[in-house]
Amino acid sequence: MDAEKPSGKGRTVTVVGGGVAGMSAACALAEAGMRVRLVERRSYLGGRATSFLHPGVGEVIDNCQHVLFGCCTNLAGFYRRIGVADRIRWTSGMTMIEPGGRRSPLGPSWLPAPLHGLPRLLAARAFTLRDKAALGRAFRALLRPVPADSTESLAAWLARNGQTKGALDRFWRLVIASALNADIDSIALPYAAKVVRELFMNSAEAGRMGLSTVPLGELYVGAAELLRGRGGAVSLGEAVESASWDEGASRWALAARSGSLASEFLVLALPFEAMARLLPRMPDREGAGALAAKIGRHEHWPICSVHLWFDREITELDHAVLLDREVHWMFNKGRLQAWRRRAGSYLELVVSASRAFAALSREEAVARAVADLAEFFPVVRSARLEKAAFVKELRATFGVPPGIDASRPSCTSPWPNCFLAGDWTATGWPSTMEGASRSGHLAAEAVCRAVGEPRSILVPDLGPTGLMRLAAAWSR
Ligand SMILES: Cc1cc2nc3c(=O)[nH]c(=O)nc-3n(C[C@H](O)[C@H](O)[C@H](O)COP(=O)(O)OP(=O)(O)OC[C@H]3O[C@@H](n4cnc5c(N)ncnc54)[C@H](O)[C@@H]3O)c2cc1C
Repeated sequence: MDAEKPSGKGRTVTVVGGGVAGMSAACALAEAGMRVRLVERRSYLGGRATSFLHPGVGEVIDNCQHVLFGCCTNLAGFYRRIGVADRIRWTSGMTMIEPGGRRSPLGPSWLPAPLHGLPRLLAARAFTLRDKAALGRAFRALLRPVPADSTESLAAWLARNGQTKGALDRFWRLVIASALNADIDSIALPYAAKVVRELFMNSAEAGRMGLSTVPLGELYVGAAELLRGRGGAVSLGEAVESASWDEGASRWALAARSGSLASEFLVLALPFEAMARLLPRMPDREGAGALAAKIGRHEHWPICSVHLWFDREITELDHAVLLDREVHWMFNKGRLQAWRRRAGSYLELVVSASRAFAALSREEAVARAVADLAEFFPVVRSARLEKAAFVKELRATFGVPPGIDASRPSCTSPWPNCFLAGDWTATGWPSTMEGASRSGHLAAEAVCRAVGEPRSILVPDLGPTGLMRLAAAWSR
């Protein structure tokens, strides 16, 4: 990051959308010396990665556990920029648990990448010998990069590469498809290959998992402070309803609830459905129709979380992957967020990409989650459930089916001085906080180029280590 050299001094920018994409763009531009106003429809920052006071349980909870990985270099760069990198706790281990409680710890060893995870995978009792051989074959095949324009689905590729039922159910569906939050037949192979390479092959550092020790919303206090400290502003509860461009003055005027907002540059960091709503209220321009058509090809996938407070400790594990049941991930929030510590425990269970689970009522979802949990931790049967919350996010992520890249626009827009950001734009990443942060950094770079003072904001990838470096060189 070129943090020291101020550029674009005093130029005015409005960033619409206070999610990770908008905040990443806004903070980078403020650091580049511009006067930035961040405008957010809700009364708090964070968008789809946030926390809120849940009225039913009287606690501040995340809308869902969000995890990042070592390979998320731009998100980590954003956290460093706003001074909260030390609120992320990093861990390299992952425990798979079967119904009945048998555990298989996975994680790195001293071996060089991509072999670092092998000893524990070979010892994992969750997989049979045939499962392990199938996974080994698949990983070997993924040493060769998958062409970015491949139109094969993950499901088709797995069938072609002879994956067993155990490997399919316990690794590909549970770990990879849930990281991409879609069914395996709705995932483009290049995205699955990217996740496997980043989390399991490139390096132990790239695959380590980061979890916030504070509610997500607390992380963003640093973003608001940075913007205000550099002469900018944060307008909350302010939905932008339309935008017009004054060619003579070279300025944008935005119609918002409290009146009109003007600036020389505009970054629209909206989710795709909000961008679709705003489009007809933007100036008529060649290219706007093509953008609308691209947006129309995107689809949402849900994620649900069930938050459970018990009167006693349920497990000493910080987190776990739960096999063969409706719930997929367990996060022991009482342990991960030490300040919450009290008698009993607070667990969050996550169900990815399940439209059926998202259709349940609160009572049904809580009952099913508790029943599943008891199969992994029998103490649940004798514990008292003190309170519970069910959070469904029906528009959690956008899907990455084969061919989706043609519908992900770059940060340039059909309008002058206007740039696009948001996880759904062309970053090469799936719907993640890293994708959002990258898109914000790309848009910020584009604004800097437009004012004639280009600077490098995008944080480079970690790159492969060990034998993966040789594999990368060999495949070039
Ligand atoms: C339940 C759930 C679990 C997830 N788990 C993970 C995970 O573990 N790891 C991970 O990396 N990612 C995860 N994600 C995905 C991640 O949250 C998103 O990819 C990322 O936060 C998207 O950021 P964004 O800034 O692109 O969009 P958003 O977060 O949607 O931000 C856009 C903002 O624009 C605002 N807005 C909309 N319309 C207007 C308007 N007219 N005027 C002003 N503001 C407007 C919205 O209110 C919103 O705040 C998860 C998402 C969900 C919902």
